[in-house]
Amino acid sequence: MTSRWQDRTARGLSDLDLLVHRSRLIGAERALVVHGGGNTSVKTTEPDHRGRPTRVLRIKGSGADLASATAKDFPALRLDDLLPLFGRTDMDDADMVAYQDRCALAPGGPRPSIETLLHAFVPAPHVDHTHADAILALVNHPASRAIVRRALGDRIGFVPYVRPGFRLARLAGAVARANPGLEAIVFDRHGLLTWGATAKESYLRTIRYVTRAEAFLRRTNRGRAPLGGPLGRPLSRAARGTLAAALLPRLRGILTGGRGIVLLDDSPVALAWVDSRGLNAVAARGPATPDHVLHLKPWPAISAPVTGDPSRDATILNRAVAAWAARYARYFKTHAPAGQTMDPAVPRFLLVPRLGVIVTGKDRRAAGIALDLVTRNRVVQSLAFPLGAYTPIPERDLCEFEYWPNERYKLSLRAPDREFAGRVALVTGAASGIGLACARALVREGAHVVLADRDGVGAEREARALAATSGGRAIATTMDVTDHAAVRRGLDAAIRAFGGLDLLVSNAGIAKAGPLDTLDPRDWDTAMAVNATGGFLVAREAVRVMKAQGTGGAIAVIGTKNVPAPGAEFGAYSASKAAGTQLAKVLALEGGPFGIRVNIVNPDAIFAGSKLWSKEVLTGRARAHHTTVGQLPAFYAARTLLRRTVTGDDVAQAVLFLLSERAAKTTGAQLPVDGGVAAAFPR
Ligand code: ZN
Repeated sequence: MTSRWQDRTARGLSDLDLLVHRSRLIGAERALVVHGGGNTSVKTTEPDHRGRPTRVLRIKGSGADLASATAKDFPALRLDDLLPLFGRTDMDDADMVAYQDRCALAPGGPRPSIETLLHAFVPAPHVDHTHADAILALVNHPASRAIVRRALGDRIGFVPYVRPGFRLARLAGAVARANPGLEAIVFDRHGLLTWGATAKESYLRTIRYVTRAEAFLRRTNRGRAPLGGPLGRPLSRAARGTLAAALLPRLRGILTGGRGIVLLDDSPVALAWVDSRGLNAVAARGPATPDHVLHLKPWPAISAPVTGDPSRDATILNRAVAAWAARYARYFKTHAPAGQTMDPAVPRFLLVPRLGVIVTGKDRRAAGIALDLVTRNRVVQSLAFPLGAYTPIPERDLCEFEYWPNERYKLSLRAPDREFAGRVALVTGAASGIGLACARALVREGAHVVLADRDGVGAEREARALAATSGGRAIATTMDVTDHAAVRRGLDAAIRAFGGLDLLVSNAGIAKAGPLDTLDPRDWDTAMAVNATGGFLVAREAVRVMKAQGTGGAIAVIGTKNVPAPGAEFGAYSASKAAGTQLAKVLALEGGPFGIRVNIVNPDAIFAGSKLWSKEVLTGRARAHHTTVGQLPAFYAARTLLRRTVTGDDVAQAVLFLLSERAAKTTGAQLPVDGGVAAAFPR
């Protein structure tokens, strides 16, 4: 592992800024820590609220991520209050946390890491704790102590597995204090602790010990095929794509109930892992460090190799999930503390020979974290394989960690779920106007959104902007709704990105104006193709995915005021939209038994941001209403009961309501969003 340290960038930094700097260097190396794992500290002197110099420990707050750490992630605790605890032999977690809270130099900071005392008790100014891949490859082994000695030399201490907390801190502190020549300690089945007189020394020791471990593993692995070599061969890329499109929605329904994300990783390394001889010998044993159990549960579900036939493979995956659930129930019953309620018995990841790695998460971000942790486990297991006998902590300890209140606290820090959290929506015509307003509103309320538009560039631009502020909850797909193949590709994109589909906003539409006796038949055909056939094709594919998931669904069809109250010289538009409305009603009839609700929103006269109104249409409508193009918005507003201009955001609010559980008992309804047009009252 290469050091990222540069004296130039570190020069002149305060102790706290150096800590932030070093933490980021460590966090940048994914082979050291990922997603909130590991922690760092410095012992320094800072003024208290009255200006008195006070010895403090700056320690990472619980759950903060080293890679993006800032100074506020490191609360200051009074060292002179922490250090006397070393005299105790044991301390309850709750007491320890309460005690630590009272040591804070300033109120209101983040809760300090559960490993705070570990940092306090080691008598060195700078301390770093990581879960380095190469170290974990050495210590998940029955002979870990001897292997560590052989690989890393004798200036490193060894502490047997103890759950993080007071006892681990006490043990590590005692080892460090009794052996002043040590530079680091290995925690069995858990990770590495280094320290130094300077920030640089502590950091470089982490890098040096990891590099030594890597070199040792390289020597052991020399000439051997990773994980025992390949056992089977993956399906072809095309076959994997077809199978994923068929299986992921089913799996998403089973694993998340339609409230979460399912991702497939079929990268070459992931495929090599699931098709290796060594898979069953290592992967089902447990995570490389106990921290991972919070995101991944104790082990993956491992299926038999898939065949490429969706219905046979569905059975294969069902079996793997059922076997996992039975194993988890046994594990919980045997090891869980009395009075604890069992989490839902569903695996967080599946290893599927010939197809790849499948992970779940409550949203795209969580699924991404799970995938990163699965990747770390794959790397550790590959590195450790030639040593043989990969052995993580016993299930008893794993279960204790999984249901440990202090670790669950990290999970509780997350903001409460928004209304559409974990949902997946497809919006057609999403690059502008009503579609874009709906896509934005859905993302804001927690949904994952596929923005489909014939204008692929526009959809991509809007999706990227939304993804950047939502943890990747938006993607784009180029879709002409009249092109069946393009519609299928769009649904496949939704499945590959998020695992399925719960919500559809069928919005893509086109306006063609002109008196019927002079209307170009091609304009009529275009209006019918987009507004009627397009709506049908999109709904057809969406409903197939929803049925495969088996968790219901909700569809909002954007109609128009022109269906109940048509206007002259708008025949192609009104008739094609009426066909779309009639289709929606039939869809409501057919979807009911499957929990799929279908409702219609009838907007009118949305001008801002809309592409519906081409220059010809605007001129045509102005002529039909004996006004000018510039006066059209005011004309439409003036003829409404409320005398107000209607916007895409107004329509999006109605769509959100109809898609939400608040409208759980409503289907086949029409909701006008037109400022009030008496002639268009639904009846
Ligand atoms: Zn740790």
